[in-house]
Amino acid sequence: ATPAATMVGTTIGAQHGVLFKGGDVLERAKDVDTVVFDKTGTLTAGEMELTDVVAVGDDGGTVADGGTVAERGDAADEGSAAGGGAEAPEDEVLRLAASAERGSEHPLARAIVEGAESRGLDLADPEEFENVPGHGVRATVDGDEVLVGNRKLLRDAGVDAAPAAETMERLEREGKTAMLVARLPAGDGDGELLGVVADADTVKPSAERAVGQLRERGVDVMMITGDNERTARAVAERVGIDPDNVRAGVLPEDKSDAVEAIQADGRRAMMVGDGVNDAPALAVAYVGTAIGSGTDVAIEAADVTLMRDDPLDVVKAIRVSDATLQKIK
Ligand code: ADP
Ligand code: MG
Repeated sequence: ATPAATMVGTTIGAQHGVLFKGGDVLERAKDVDTVVFDKTGTLTAGEMELTDVVAVGDDGGTVADGGTVAERGDAADEGSAAGGGAEAPEDEVLRLAASAERGSEHPLARAIVEGAESRGLDLADPEEFENVPGHGVRATVDGDEVLVGNRKLLRDAGVDAAPAAETMERLEREGKTAMLVARLPAGDGDGELLGVVADADTVKPSAERAVGQLRERGVDVMMITGDNERTARAVAERVGIDPDNVRAGVLPEDKSDAVEAIQADGRRAMMVGDGVNDAPALAVAYVGTAIGSGTDVAIEAADVTLMRDDPLDVVKAIRVSDATLQKIK
């Protein structure tokens, strides 16, 4: 495009909160044939809320309804802990999980801590906190090591998560992120599965329309996430992304490889993400787009920045590119 065309395009874009980092990006955007959305914070609001706390009985009973399991359907609806009597087992699960998560900045962690605080639980100060990216956290709470995270985190620590399998699957089918809570006693004792906590996120109101409009243009829409397959598919279904187009369980450091794999057959992918995790993937994509309140790292790695937090602006970016360059030709 001529310098004048570039000027017009970038100005129109800016008026809509779509910032192109230079003329070649503005030209490339119209040729995007695949849009790859990050899930958390991009298609969803990224504002997690604690929704469920489930305790597993000491005898390792199955986590079905009743039996050794105490379950609180919707944590958010409950007041503070069971009045008067002994502490409910799920309160202890939540207290330990939240104490361990105090050291984490992850949205999943913040929701657990806030949920515990709003129920009036007394949190301990975690020691020897360790963040295990893409898997969870480990921290010493009250002298024991507490683990909160996904199946792999527990497997690596030698804790059997099988008794919670059904609960995990049920929560994930509801589109929630379910996390296992376990305790490893100081010394050599066996690790113990304590329960499950779940957070839910809300899908952004315009996500479904954005996906629909992209598909109408003939653009293939995909989703990439570190979250598990079942949760990812539940969210994909809500916004109209084909389940076959979901790449779940992708570790932060593997997101860029996943984008490269998508582009391996000559596709021109726009990767849309918000987080620190997403920066390498934004950098390798044909067009990297940082959305909304994205981190500085993401914005720096991106070719396009969407100032508002609206997935529809992805369509706008492609349209501005299209319209500007056609007019000038
Ligand atoms: P996303 O790509 O959705 O932002 P991450 O790569 O950060 O997700 O995390 C992937 C998975 O690892 C989460 O779905 C969760 O199961 C687990 N996980 C990550 N961080 C934490 C944490 N602080 N506490 C518990 N689980 C976590
Ligand atoms: Mg994210």
